Amino acid sequence: MDLQDILDKLNSEEKAELAKLLHRELNIPDLELVSKNINENRPIHCPHCHNTEIYGHGSYKGRRRYMCKSCKKTFNDFTGTAVDGIKKLDDFQEYLLLMIESVTIRKAAKKLGVSMQTVFDWRHKILSALEAFNGSNFSGIVECDDKQLDINEKGNRNLERKPFKRASDRETKRGVSNDKISIMVASDRNDKTTMQVAKVGRIDAESVQNTIGGFISTDNILCSDSHPSIIKWAKDKHLEHHTFVASRQHVKNRCYHVQHVNSLDSRYEKWVKRFNGVSTKYLQGYLNWFVFLQKIRKSTIRAQELAKCVINNISALRTYSFIERKYIDLMKLHYIRT
Ligand SMILES: [Zn+2]
Repeated sequence: MDLQDILDKLNSEEKAELAKLLHRELNIPDLELVSKNINENRPIHCPHCHNTEIYGHGSYKGRRRYMCKSCKKTFNDFTGTAVDGIKKLDDFQEYLLLMIESVTIRKAAKKLGVSMQTVFDWRHKILSALEAFNGSNFSGIVECDDKQLDINEKGNRNLERKPFKRASDRETKRGVSNDKISIMVASDRNDKTTMQVAKVGRIDAESVQNTIGGFISTDNILCSDSHPSIIKWAKDKHLEHHTFVASRQHVKNRCYHVQHVNSLDSRYEKWVKRFNGVSTKYLQGYLNWFVFLQKIRKSTIRAQELAKCVINNISALRTYSFIERKYIDLMKLHYIRT
């Protein structure tokens, strides 16, 4: 097969289509290669106990194996990551590209020729890997906001809640009932962002601390609306804090405002629409996904960036296995009220 002959036979439209296909093909990450590059540049950690003192321990199915000096367990480059145990590695690698394109499960399953359940599992393993990249220490001015979403129990037959007798039986407080889930959003001016599921019902100072508190210190200056829990939390933490009335988009001293976080909110709303309602159980995963897409939006090698995060997180499977547990903990308040 002479490729030049084939190329000569194509018209310009076909050539353009071929270029597009090739570009796509070349953008599919090679996870073995990504893993090799990463492990050449940093110490290998034992995924069982995180020790870095390890021996080589031969190879299995062409993959290097190691043994941990401390816990004596064996592992390979993929152990504990979202790739661990994935059989259709080629399809999984192509799915990383589809994740970057925010493709729905149905479309991805059709394109890759695998079941929707398989794509569903892959998606949530990858999103578990991204959890570690949802937020880091902020610098300078930080804007934060809380946001309420409807609780969505899609796909959770095990946790059927007793129906309310009457709508008026619901406890409401300041317009946020226990039928809502609150999330915290924070962003600095260097595009560092975090979005975290906080609690059922209205946020309190404790849930602000648990979600964004670890990323903010007294070196930061906080801007937010005048939510009493955020005010209390900022005061307890001795932060310089500027508050704004949500309906009036004003700017103090040219730099204090909440426009970044508001624009982030509306971009999230626009992005999440395509999924036709996100189940609360998996909401944190979707937040991880959106924050990651924001972070890499200017990159030209976005699928490679995703592959790197996937390989780098040797606790992803553990995070994935805790989704159900975390969901039950989160929903406790919701059930007590019914
Ligand atoms: Zn170990």
